[in-house]
Amino acid sequence: MRKILVVEDENSIVTLLQFNLEQAGFTVVTALDGKTGLYLARKEKPDLIILDLMLPEMDGMEILKTLRQEQNQTPILMLTAKDEELDKILGLEMGADDYMTKPFSPREVVARVKAILRRSGQALNRSAHVSESEEQDKENELVVGELRVLPDQYEAYIRDQKLELTPKEFELLLYLIHNKGRVLSRDQLLNAVWNYDYIGDTRIVDVHISHLREKIEENTRQPRYIKTIRGLGYKLEEKDH
Ligand code: CA
Repeated sequence: MRKILVVEDENSIVTLLQFNLEQAGFTVVTALDGKTGLYLARKEKPDLIILDLMLPEMDGMEILKTLRQEQNQTPILMLTAKDEELDKILGLEMGADDYMTKPFSPREVVARVKAILRRSGQALNRSAHVSESEEQDKENELVVGELRVLPDQYEAYIRDQKLELTPKEFELLLYLIHNKGRVLSRDQLLNAVWNYDYIGDTRIVDVHISHLREKIEENTRQPRYIKTIRGLGYKLEEKDH
């Protein structure tokens, strides 16, 4: 059974989330403050963390930063109270997998949780098949310039250096590379990578693109691989020096 850690200091929200997630078949662990949240994130090894931004003891950003520094790539769905807060955290370019602004419907939260897990589950299944055949892996290798993606191993390299990508960043890169040379709109990327069957907030696409650039590009101001196509979206291609 999939385990979800909910870190949230508002009791009513914790109760609501716990009820709805359990109804959907998840095991739920809860923490009402940041310190306990971080402790449980390490100890319980949940499949996903729902993390509130404003928390006593230690805020959500601090927890997220700490976990990512420890190479902990547990998918994180970040909760914020206001749109202004959302702008702030998006501006800070943290490594959360998704964001939701309160108030939200519990059904929407469960849908997002499932979408995130579906993606990271695919990641796990793929890495389980890794050692079957190296030859076969080579065939599936996707190369653009000095960028190399191994879909089956869920690994990506730049200049032979392994990239530390969150599941979402990996999915985004994979989609871009599969559609090399094609202009992709934010809505298209949102639907393909985040599995949203409704109109979501496309800012999350921009944030993840910017994370990817930081990891891939030598100069993020003049990206060699991921280009912004003004008014349209993004395109991955290799431009010669
Ligand atoms: Ca709070």
